[in-house]
Amino acid sequence: MRMDVDVLVIGGGPVGCTVARFAALGGTHTLIVEKRSEIGSPVRCGEGIAPDIFDEIGITKDSRWVRNTVDGARFISPAGHMWVIEGEAVSEEVGLVIDRDKFDKVMALHALDEGAKLMLRTHIEELIVDGGKVTGARGKYMGQDIEIAAKVVIAADGYESVLAGQVGIDTRLESKDVETCLQYTLGGVVNQDRYCDFYFGNSVVPGGYIWIFPKSASEVNVGLGLLLSKVEKKGAVKEYLDGFIKDHPVLSKGSAISMVAGGVSVSMPIKTTVADGFIVVGDAARMVDPLSGGGLANGMLAAKIAGEVAAKAVKSGNVSAETLAEYDTSWRKRLEEKMYRNYLTKELLLKQSDETVDKVIETLGNTKMENVGTFEIIQAIAEKHPDVVKEIEKFFI
Ligand SMILES: Cc1cc2nc3c(=O)[nH]c(=O)nc-3n(C[C@H](O)[C@H](O)[C@H](O)COP(=O)(O)OP(=O)(O)OC[C@H]3O[C@@H](n4cnc5c(N)ncnc54)[C@H](O)[C@@H]3O)c2cc1C
Repeated sequence: MRMDVDVLVIGGGPVGCTVARFAALGGTHTLIVEKRSEIGSPVRCGEGIAPDIFDEIGITKDSRWVRNTVDGARFISPAGHMWVIEGEAVSEEVGLVIDRDKFDKVMALHALDEGAKLMLRTHIEELIVDGGKVTGARGKYMGQDIEIAAKVVIAADGYESVLAGQVGIDTRLESKDVETCLQYTLGGVVNQDRYCDFYFGNSVVPGGYIWIFPKSASEVNVGLGLLLSKVEKKGAVKEYLDGFIKDHPVLSKGSAISMVAGGVSVSMPIKTTVADGFIVVGDAARMVDPLSGGGLANGMLAAKIAGEVAAKAVKSGNVSAETLAEYDTSWRKRLEEKMYRNYLTKELLLKQSDETVDKVIETLGNTKMENVGTFEIIQAIAEKHPDVVKEIEKFFI
């Protein structure tokens, strides 16, 4: 089977569908190919997202996928100190708890509404590269060989992505920059709290954290992210999470209706995200926030830029890496500095003892901040506990 399109998007996740929506809006013949037989399933997500992104990408929040609007986020230390973020700051970091499977499907529908096409059960195995330029991709559609020629190929194939490596874009990850996650949706809990909770400290999970995101008054998404380099034995992630749930007064009353494991990158930004005729975006381009492990907002913001730049390049008849570099420069302008800072903060947090985590969270809990960015947080800690941030302060203040 052979096909010919302007823009080929590999991966029908929220990032791929957002790229496709903007590429189609730009007047190109756009095709999304997805290896699974259903968009959005299985869910591998804490399902928390900051609502600000939806204005940026022109999507109206929708009762089909919004499950809960929270009042804020709470960061809880081993001794139970709590730092609460509420109000304005919430919409930049957390704020909505979504049904991720429905969300992904609606993002696909938005892309189709703009004229993009979607093919399920289409597994891309390799890029077609001609004299260093990507001219398409080949793989299997429902088990049959398929070859798709495209003016621009966009890899939005998620965390497990390998395609970009074929054109010399290094997306490999060290084990210290990978978080291995396990997540349950628990029903049968009685949870009146409208906060996204994050638990830290070596006595909770050494080298990781636990999240609890409320989907309703009786359903939560609870999960654990642990750096691969800190996994001491097989099954450790499940052991930590199950232990935490068993000892938790609310969660211990519930039962899991789903359980999924997955990986996220928590790395520095990669060096380049374009080649001749080729763009890589979202988790495939390691755009996850290294501190929170959230990848939806960063990925979809970059996806909008990728779709717009790809459409413009196709229209101009010039899809060289130089032309597509507008995408690379633009997403870096928006995301790169924060990603670097959050990477350094992650590295710093990992080195701290439980006593220090207690002190820091207690301090933040007692500090009034106008904005809650990494800069303001580091500044607040530097005032009370200069030793803790000495190593990285120069990058922030
Ligand atoms: C347990 C867990 C919890 C998380 N919690 C949150 C959270 O609360 N908030 C948040 O913002 N982020 C969270 N993340 C990260 C978030 O899920 C990702 O950032 C997001 O899914 C990235 O979207 P994407 O479209 O780039 O990739 P994906 O959603 O992974 O989509 C990639 C798609 O490409 C398809 N694909 C892959 N290879 C091929 C191929 N060769 N051919 C065709 N199709 C292919 C896949 O089947 C998939 O559908 C979490 C991740 C995990 C693992």
